[in-house]
Amino acid sequence: MDMESLKTDRHILENSMLEDDPNENSALSQEEKNLPRWGPYHKGAQELAKLYSTGKRRQETLSIYMCLILMAANFFFILRHFQMERWTTVVFAALCGIITADFASGLVHWGADSWCSVDLPIIGKNFLRPFREHHIDPTSITRHDFIETNGDNFMLTIPCLARMLWDFLTKSNEEVQNTFSWTCYLFLLAVFVAMTNQIHKWSHTYFGLPWWVIWLQDHHIILPRLHHRIHHVAPHETYFCITTGWLNWPLEKLNFWPFLEWLITTLTGYKPRTDDFKWAQKRA
Ligand SMILES: [Zn+2]
Ligand SMILES: [Zn+2]
Repeated sequence: MDMESLKTDRHILENSMLEDDPNENSALSQEEKNLPRWGPYHKGAQELAKLYSTGKRRQETLSIYMCLILMAANFFFILRHFQMERWTTVVFAALCGIITADFASGLVHWGADSWCSVDLPIIGKNFLRPFREHHIDPTSITRHDFIETNGDNFMLTIPCLARMLWDFLTKSNEEVQNTFSWTCYLFLLAVFVAMTNQIHKWSHTYFGLPWWVIWLQDHHIILPRLHHRIHHVAPHETYFCITTGWLNWPLEKLNFWPFLEWLITTLTGYKPRTDDFKWAQKRA
């Protein structure tokens, strides 16, 4: 079984929204036309969209600016300290950074999708809400601007990038050289963590993508569209990695997510995806 045939075409049709249908008329029955299971007319999706606040917007805007400034400054120092004879180690470190970013995207996405609730103070409304909205209205992400799409991912990289800049400013040239590969690893990890939701947004965009994005998707350098659709089949229980998606198939073969869920349910008694299921039911 290859990875795209993990779920059959019929199973995908019955349990996910058809995003390449521009008319939003992919309802399979009259009942689904009146009570949409997906999309911008879903009552739960509308309720979740309304919870996006101005305070949240401010946090996202600030995160974007801080992250971009730190990234530019660190990139300047990386170029200044780069030594041509070490290029193979640097490329290897960078590749490991990208793979780590893909794994981190899966772990955070899985955690936010499967556990806790939008009712949770602070975290729920500000950081879990987008994950719930995304399952019942997957194309809403294509209508979000750059700040709403990327603010939270940019925020996650700020502590690491700030520490990196501090080290560049305070350490001697020799000390910087000693940890240079590690720095390149962390820098590419941060860059790909920051870019993850933009890449994820492109994987939901079926119209008007620039040719080079489609090229990167087709060569599976970033998350391809049909690959990510496997995650968007209810009950959204697999293919959580959304940066490159390289780890989805190996993790599937290892039964990684079901094992983690079994472990948590055994230890705590909580069942995965109860909140996600609750929002999916809010159709009227
Ligand atoms: Zn998800
Ligand atoms: Zn998605």
